[in-house]
Amino acid sequence: MFDRVYIDEAKKRIGEKLTIAGWVIRTRDLAKIKFILLRDKSGEIQITIKDLNLMPSENLGREDVVKVTGETVQSNIANAGVEFIPEKIDVLNKSKQPLPVDITQQTQSELETRLNWRFLDFRNPQTRSIFIIQNKILSSFREYLTNNGYIEFQPPCIISSASEGGAELFSIPYFEKKAFLAQSPQLYKQMTAISFEKVFTITPIWRAEKFNTPTHLNEIRQMDIEQAFADDETVMQVLEKVLVHILTEIKETCSEELKILKQENLEIPKIPFRRVTYTEAIQMLQNIGEQIVWGDDFTKPQEKLLMELVGEKAFFLKDWPGAQKAFYAMPYENNPDVVKAFDCIYGGIEISSGTQRIHIPELLRERLKFKGLDPEDFENYIEAFAYGAPPHAGWSIGLERITMIITGMTNIRECAMFPRDRERLTP
Ligand code: ATP
Ligand code: MG
Repeated sequence: MFDRVYIDEAKKRIGEKLTIAGWVIRTRDLAKIKFILLRDKSGEIQITIKDLNLMPSENLGREDVVKVTGETVQSNIANAGVEFIPEKIDVLNKSKQPLPVDITQQTQSELETRLNWRFLDFRNPQTRSIFIIQNKILSSFREYLTNNGYIEFQPPCIISSASEGGAELFSIPYFEKKAFLAQSPQLYKQMTAISFEKVFTITPIWRAEKFNTPTHLNEIRQMDIEQAFADDETVMQVLEKVLVHILTEIKETCSEELKILKQENLEIPKIPFRRVTYTEAIQMLQNIGEQIVWGDDFTKPQEKLLMELVGEKAFFLKDWPGAQKAFYAMPYENNPDVVKAFDCIYGGIEISSGTQRIHIPELLRERLKFKGLDPEDFENYIEAFAYGAPPHAGWSIGLERITMIITGMTNIRECAMFPRDRERLTP
């Protein structure tokens, strides 16, 4: 067994014989004394070597992996007020030198270089902080929904046809057939919700969007819910509570990481978030001279402008033109051009979209035709609602998008451990 204690614990256990292990951040040589700054997942400690016979025969370099047995002592020289006095130093593995990326906080290598060497980049305190926060987003999302009666479901990722009818599908050979990578868990969340009532999933999806943008990837993770006996307003209320829960958890448990990312002032939006209708938003933009007409989608710069015009970090844009949303969005009975759909804008970008879905087969057929799609191609989907499907609604949050806003990143590639974009397939 590999017996060692984490550095943060070793720092407290003054005077005990302990073994610690980690990576060499840097070494410093004085005439009669040497120092190693050692890092593990819990922190850093200075190792002070007065007996030079203990030093490994080869010089230590950055990111060498070592195991050190010794004791922590109080120190008035070391920054942390303690230092570690070794009696034995073992080198477990050497690192090639020089390192291909800078992993100290002071200087940052180019993003492309960092992504090429992602496994090393994870040792950079900023990169590390992004993914510790992302982990918290995932765990608090799961925690909130589990505690509120939702069950987690696992949709398939290989599917036989487009769930949204869009062109952004990657096709793959599947034995004698052609299959596709899922662009959304849409059908599966609806099929589970109309029986389990309250479901959620965290799942990868793929979109063959051709253009590289700072806010789009070709593979992302979506955090989705779907709920029966619900309309758009019901699930907007769930969304604002989930978002506030996630942000509160991060504020409470990731203060160190937020500080490293200079996001310590992360604000928790007040519930209820403002609901701005699509039509109001179009008017707001037109009033300041933006080129946009009723029926258009908002561009990414316009989403940002809307945040300023609305004056809230988080708000909903609701009641969209049917033409801008998927065929399964429920139209208003008295105004079928408008559907019960919403986007959540957070930090000036869409982080989530949702709708009340159509649960009536005949209406689905009608809307498919209205969209220029052939209901015949969707008969499997429509059939799911032919056996007592309650009214239902749901939404999807993009994990990398929400991570971007919380961590203050401007390029979404920072927020995917191994991003996939038009050019990048490795690592
Ligand atoms: P956008 O208009 O921003 O391209 P969308 O409306 O096509 O996104 P949806 O189908 O509504 O996306 O997906 C739900 C959520 O998934 C989005 O709000 C966003 O957070 C995330 N998302 C969708 N596509 C991408 C992508 N290509 N890259 C990163 N995140 C995405
Ligand atoms: Mg959307």
